[in-house]
Amino acid sequence: MSENWGFDTNAIHAGAAPDPATGARQVPIYQTTAYVFQDAAHAARLFGLQEVGYIYSRLTNPTVSALQARIAALEGGAGAVCCSSGHAAQILALFPLMGPGRNIIASTRLYGGTITQFSQTIKRFGWGVKFVDLDDLDALRAAADDDTRAIFCESISNPGGYVTDIPAVARIADELGLPLIVDNTLATPSLCKPIEMGATLVVHSLTKYLTGNGTVTGGAVVDSGRFDWSASDKFPSLSQPEPAYHGLTFHKTFGNLAFTFHGIAIGLRDLGMTMNPQAAHYTLMGIETLGLRMARHVENARIVADWLESDSRVTSVTYAGLASSPWYETAQRVYPKGAGALFTFAIKGGYDAAVKLVDHLRLFSHVANLGDARSLVIHSASTTHSQLTDAQKIAAGAGPDVVRLSIGIEDPADLIADLDQALAAATA
Ligand SMILES: *Cc1c(COP(=O)(O)O)cnc(C)c1O
Repeated sequence: MSENWGFDTNAIHAGAAPDPATGARQVPIYQTTAYVFQDAAHAARLFGLQEVGYIYSRLTNPTVSALQARIAALEGGAGAVCCSSGHAAQILALFPLMGPGRNIIASTRLYGGTITQFSQTIKRFGWGVKFVDLDDLDALRAAADDDTRAIFCESISNPGGYVTDIPAVARIADELGLPLIVDNTLATPSLCKPIEMGATLVVHSLTKYLTGNGTVTGGAVVDSGRFDWSASDKFPSLSQPEPAYHGLTFHKTFGNLAFTFHGIAIGLRDLGMTMNPQAAHYTLMGIETLGLRMARHVENARIVADWLESDSRVTSVTYAGLASSPWYETAQRVYPKGAGALFTFAIKGGYDAAVKLVDHLRLFSHVANLGDARSLVIHSASTTHSQLTDAQKIAAGAGPDVVRLSIGIEDPADLIADLDQALAAATA
C-alpha cells in the first residue's frame, strides 16, 4: 500500500488490494473460523509467532485485517487491532500496560459509560483511576505517581463536545514517560490525528462515525509504534520475556509493532473480544465515505448550533465551534477542520421541558447512539449518564435541563424545523 496517499484515498484503498485468489475488487467477507495449514511445520511456526499468518478467527481474519490496515493508515499508526466494541478497545488498550495496584489518569470529561468502566469495573482487576480536569496541566502532572501507567482522554468529548488540547497533554505524558491514550471516536481521523500530536495509542468505537449508519458494534486500538516500552521497567508485558510464547519478548521481536502483536497474540487470544468479519465489512464500507460525511456533519452542526444559540427558548449551547465556548480557541487551533457534530444544549424549564422536547422531536431519533448519518437526540441525565452522581453529571456536561444532539447529514433546514416545533411544544 502506498504511504503517500491522501486521507480520502486511504479511506477507500488502504488494506484493500484485489483478492489474490479471485480478483474480487471489494474486500471479501471471509466467513471462516479456521485456515488450513500448509503442513505441520507451518502450523508450528504460526503458533510460535515465528511466521505471521492466519490460524483461527478469534485472533486474525482477513476481512478484519483489511479494516485494521485501513484504520492504521487513516490514523497514521504503525498497526491496529479491531475488537468487538469501543469498550472492549479500552480494555484491550489498557491490558498490556496495567496490573494489580497500577492506575491510570483519566480526563473528567468522558463518555458516561467510560467513567463507569474506569471508576467501577476495572477496580475488580485491581486497577485504579484518578480523574483529572485535563485543562489543568499542573493537576495532571501532580496526579502521576510511581504506579501510573497511562493517561486517557477523549479528543472531542461526549456529551458536551468539549475539546482536549492533545499537544499540551502529550507534552506532559512525554515528561512523565507515560503513554497517552486518546479516544478519537467523536473527532475521527478526518478531524483529528492524535498520533501526529503525540498520542501513543488511539482507541475507537467503530460503532459511531467510522461505520456511520448505526449498523455495527465495534472497536479498534491503533498503535503509533513510537513509545519505547523498554525505556523503564514499567511495561513488563512488552519489555520482558513472555512465558506463553517460549520466552519471546514482544518489544525486542516486533519493534514498533510490539503493542499490535501483543494485542492480537495475548489480548484477543485470551480476552476473546473479537470483531466478526461481517461487522468488519460494514465498517470498511462506512469508512469509504468518512471524509465526505464528517465535512457535512460539521457543516450541519455549525448551522444548528448557531440557530439554537440565537433562540430565546434555549439557555446555552456547548458546541466548541461557537465563539461563546470556553474551548473555542483550543478547537480552532487543535481541530481546525471542525469541532465535530455532537453537543448539548440547555432549555428553559429544566428537566420537564428537556424530556418534553425529546418526546416531541420527529426527525431526530431518540436513541442511545451517536455518529449516525441520521440526527439523534438523547436526554443524557436520565439515560447514558444516569449511573453517575449529580456532581459527576454536571462535570460531564449532562445536567437535568440538558439535551444531547448528534447532528446527522440531512438537510439542515429540516433539522431546524423539527427543533423549532419541539421547542415550541416543550416550552408552551
Ligand atoms: C460509544 C462510545 C464508547 C463505547 O463504544 P461502544 O462501541 O459502545 O462500546 C467509547 N467512547 C466514546 C467517546 C463513545 O462515544
